[in-house]
Amino acid sequence: MIIDMQNICKEYIQGKMKIPVLKDICFQMEEGEYTAIMGPSGSGKTTLMNIIGCLDRATSGKFLLDGHDVSMCSENQMSDIRLEKVGFVFQTFQLLSGMSALENVALPLTYAGIPKKERLKRAGELLERVGLSDRASFKPSQLSGGQKQRVAIARAMVNHPKILLADEHTGALDSHSGDQIMELFEELNSAGVSILMITHDANIASRASRIVEIRDGILNTKTAVLPEKEVIST
Ligand code: ADP
Ligand code: MG
Repeated sequence: MIIDMQNICKEYIQGKMKIPVLKDICFQMEEGEYTAIMGPSGSGKTTLMNIIGCLDRATSGKFLLDGHDVSMCSENQMSDIRLEKVGFVFQTFQLLSGMSALENVALPLTYAGIPKKERLKRAGELLERVGLSDRASFKPSQLSGGQKQRVAIARAMVNHPKILLADEHTGALDSHSGDQIMELFEELNSAGVSILMITHDANIASRASRIVEIRDGILNTKTAVLPEKEVIST
């Protein structure tokens, strides 16, 4: 099991008030699964994703990522797990503007302590995999939105993570670029990468093999939102 969440709660403290944002979430994902999370703005999607990606901690509950009990980990252990197991893709790409596409892709390998020559070689392979070998020296400002997102995916994959987390990753793209990104996701999933993506877009969600819905901090793994496509429920 890649994700095993039991009774996860998250609250933020605002002044003297505790604001519950995630309420008793139980969620499991098998390795190799491709799941979409849908829900209105403010329902807790990003908060949930940040906990799954080891960027943030739950207030209570138990969370195992690929068998590691993250709820018991120190901050340092959390970053090690994140580096080894998780790739992130965001709506706004989050590329560093002063670096080339190749350098952006290679960046996570710096944190992993890989020597420079090896970093650039691996980054080059990943850029090739996303079809951007000919853009290696381009800065983000010289790339289209779809190309930037492909660079971001290459960066997310450069450490060979087990799971790819995407937060509204097609939200800033036109539908053609969005389609290309979704094809790339399908290739990665076929190669065995687990994928969990957040989206508002029912068409994008329908590409996943399972859709779960979150509303007001409550995750419903049994409902599906889509009319057209058959949805596998747990
Ligand atoms: P979504 O991604 O579904 O739009 P979020 O997870 O970003 O929702 O936010 C869920 C709720 O948690 C919102 O009401 C938001 O205001 C609140 N929230 C998110 N981050 C913080 C924070 N750092 N401090 C206080 N409240 C927060
Ligand atoms: Mg969000």
